[in-house]
Amino acid sequence: MKYTNQEKLIELECKCRLYEAWLRALDENTNFDIWFKNNDSQYLYVNKKFEKAMGLSRQQLLGKTPQQIFSDTERQERVYALDKRIMDKGYIHRIVPCDGSGILQMHEEHRFPVHDDDGSVIGLGCFAIEVSGQSFAEEALTQAQTIAKLGDWRWSIKEKCLISCSDQFAQLLGVSVQEVFSLMHRRLDRVVYPGDRHIVEPIVNRQHPDEHTPYHIEYRIVQPNGAIRYVVEIAQPLLGNEGVAVEYVGILQDITEQKRIENELREAKEQLEVRVAERTRNLEYIASHDSLTGLLNRSSYLHYFNHRVEQRGGAVDVAIAILDLDSFKLVNDSHGHLAGDTVLKTVASRLRGSVKENDIVVRLGGDEFALIFFDLNNAETNIKKICERLKDIICSPIAVGHISVRVGCSFGISFLKDEPCNKEVLEQAMANADIALYKAKLTQGAFYSVFEQEMGAEVAYRHRLENDFRAALAGGQLSVAFQPQIYMANDALCGIEALARWHHPELGNITPDIFIPIAEECGLIDQLSEFVLQQSCQCIESIRSETSHKNIKVAVNFSVAQFYNENLLGKIHDILAFYALPPEALEVEVTESLFIQNPEYTKSILDQMRNHGLKVSLDDFGTGYSSLSYLKEFEVDTIKLDRTFIKAMTVQDSHLKIVDGIIKLAKSLDLMVVAEGVENQEQHAILTGLGCDIAQGFLHGKPMSEQQLLHFVQDKSISKTTPLQKRECRPPS
Ligand code: C2E
Ligand code: CA
Ligand code: CA
Repeated sequence: MKYTNQEKLIELECKCRLYEAWLRALDENTNFDIWFKNNDSQYLYVNKKFEKAMGLSRQQLLGKTPQQIFSDTERQERVYALDKRIMDKGYIHRIVPCDGSGILQMHEEHRFPVHDDDGSVIGLGCFAIEVSGQSFAEEALTQAQTIAKLGDWRWSIKEKCLISCSDQFAQLLGVSVQEVFSLMHRRLDRVVYPGDRHIVEPIVNRQHPDEHTPYHIEYRIVQPNGAIRYVVEIAQPLLGNEGVAVEYVGILQDITEQKRIENELREAKEQLEVRVAERTRNLEYIASHDSLTGLLNRSSYLHYFNHRVEQRGGAVDVAIAILDLDSFKLVNDSHGHLAGDTVLKTVASRLRGSVKENDIVVRLGGDEFALIFFDLNNAETNIKKICERLKDIICSPIAVGHISVRVGCSFGISFLKDEPCNKEVLEQAMANADIALYKAKLTQGAFYSVFEQEMGAEVAYRHRLENDFRAALAGGQLSVAFQPQIYMANDALCGIEALARWHHPELGNITPDIFIPIAEECGLIDQLSEFVLQQSCQCIESIRSETSHKNIKVAVNFSVAQFYNENLLGKIHDILAFYALPPEALEVEVTESLFIQNPEYTKSILDQMRNHGLKVSLDDFGTGYSSLSYLKEFEVDTIKLDRTFIKAMTVQDSHLKIVDGIIKLAKSLDLMVVAEGVENQEQHAILTGLGCDIAQGFLHGKPMSEQQLLHFVQDKSISKTTPLQKRECRPPS
C-alpha cells in the first residue's frame, strides 16, 4: 500500500503529538531529573524537575553549553570531560553528591550515550534521582565509614572504570571524589606503592570471567602528597543478567594505624624474644658455669661430656683427673678470701689455657677441679706428663695484690677405655679418681695417684677414721703420752715431749701419723692441740710441784694450720697462766714446711712467740727441705735431728758426716741439738762424742702416761741443771 505525502505528513503529525503527550506525561509524573544533550554538550531537552534542580528555566538552559551555564571553569571542564567520556565510552551509573548543594544530598545518576539509526553517537542523556531520602542512613554510613577509615566503591568490569565510590574512598586515596575517577584508571602507577604492585596487578589484570572471584588483599597506597598508607581491599563480584560478573563492589579500609600497632607489637615481641633468649642464655650460663672461675660447674659437665661422647659414637677413651689444691685453706686464712678467690681464678685460667679446647675443665667446688681428657694416646704415660706439666704451671707464683703466693696440687686419676659411656659409668670413674686423689694426698711425696681397685677399701677405712675422730675428741678416747728428753752430758731429765694418743674402741691404737693429718683436714687440729696443750701443762705443773724438777719444760708439736689461728698466742698464754707456768716451760715444735708456705708471716709469729719467752724448736730437721738458710732467717732455740739420721749414721759413714755437720752448724749458731730416736748405747755414745746436747728415744724412755712419767722422774737420778743453763751442761769438748 502506497502513502501519499499528505498521508505521511498526517501520520508524522500524529506520531509527534503522541511523543509530545508521552514526554509531557513523563515530565509531569516523574521524580527523575531528565535531560538530553547533543554531542556539543548543548542541552536539547530538560524536564521540569531538572529546571527546578538547576534553578534555571527551560529557555535559559536549552541550546546552552556548560560554559554558558556555569561560571566556575573547573566545573565547566569537568562536565565537558564527563559528557565526552560517556559519549566515548558509554553508560555510567553513579551516586554523587549534588553539585553545589552544600548539604548532604546525593544523586543516583544514569548517564548514557544517544545513538542515531546508524549507531553513531549523536549526544547523551541522563536520568538522575535524588537519594537524599536515604540521607540519615547515608549519613550514619558515612560516619561509620569515616570512623572505620573505610570507603566503598563499585567498579565496572567491562568498562574497566570506577562506577561509584564514597567520599571516604576518595579521602583514603588523598583526592576529591571528582579526581578519584580519573585517578583510578591509572591505579597501578598512581595509587599503589611500587613495592606492592605485584599484589594488585593480578586483580587489575583479571580478564577471563572465571577469574572474577571475591578477593581480599592488603597493600600500600601512595597519596598525592607522598604519604604512604596501608589498606585492605575486600571485593565481591556482582553478576549481571547473563550470570557473568559485571561489577565488583568492595571496600577499601585504611589499616595504617592497625599496621603501626601490629608492627610495634611485632617489634616489641621480637625485642622481647631477643631479651628472653639473651636472658635464657645468661641463666643457662649461670646455671652451668661456676660464677667465680667461669669454668663448668659440677651440675653441668655431664651434659658437655655426653655431647662429646655422642660426637664419638657413644664410646670413649678418656682420662679423668681430679685436682685438689694443697694448703689452699692457708691462703684463705692468712690473706683473706679475696686472695683465695684470686688464686682460684688464676688456677682456673691456667688450667683452661693448658689443655686442649675439647677437653673439659670443671670446678667441682672449693679448691677441687676435674679435667676430662679425650682421645689421649698412650693415656697412662701421657697423663703423667700432663699432670707434671700442670703441677708446674699451677705451682708457679700467683700475684695477689702486692704479694705473691704459691699453692701446690695433687691429682687423682682414673681411665675409661673405649667404654660405652653413660652417666653412671662417668660418675663411677669420677668417684675412682676421687679415691686416687685421696690416696695421693695421703702418700708423702706423691702428687698424683692412678686409681686401683684396692684403693677403695683403704679410702673407706680412712673415711671411717675421719668420722670416728670427731667422736674421739668428744668421748675421752684421746690421751697424751710424754717422752723424756735427757741431757747427754749427765743423763739428767731436761724435758718431755707431748705426743697425742688415740685409743679407738674397736680398732685399738691409731698412730698420730694417721690421725694428725685427719685432724688437720677436718679442721679439728685446734681442738686437739688445745687438749694436748692443757694435758701437757697440767703434767708439767705436777712434775714441777711434786718433784725437784722445778724448771722442766714440755715440747708440744704444732701443725702449720694452727699458725693461722689468730688466737693461738692468746690461747697458749691463757693455758700457761691457768697452771701458773712461765712461758719458758713450753717449747713449740714446728717443722720446716711452716717456713716454706708463708715465710714473712711465719717469721712474725715465731718472733712474737720468742718475745713472749716461749721456746721454739725445729722438728724433724734434715727430712724436709733442709735449707740451712732457714736457720739464719728464722730464729729458733733448738733443732731436732730426725731419727732417720740417727738410725743411718751407725750404718753409713756419710750419714755420720751429715749428723756431725748439722751439730757443728747448730753450735755455730748457738742452737741446742736434740737427737730423736736414740735407741741404743752406740748411738748415744756417737752423739755424745759429736757434741749433741739432748737425747730423746726409746733408750731413755718411751712415750708414757703422766702417772708413769711421775714414777720415771722419781726413779731417775735427778739433775738440778736446767735447760736454761744449757751451756754449763754441755759435754766437755
Ligand atoms: P715427732 O714429733 O717426730 O715425734 C716423735 C716420734 O718418734 C713419736 O712418734 C715417738 O713415739 C717416736 N719415737 C720416739 N723415740 C723413738 C725411738 O727411739 N725409736 C722410734 N722408732 N720412734 C721413736 P709418734 O708418737 O707416733 O708421733 C708421730 C708424729 O705425730 C710426731 O712425730 C709428731 O709429728 C706427730 N704428733 C704427735 N703428737 C702430736 C700432737 O699433739 N700434735 C701434732 N701436731 N703432731 C703430733
Ligand atoms: Ca716432735
Ligand atoms: Ca720429730
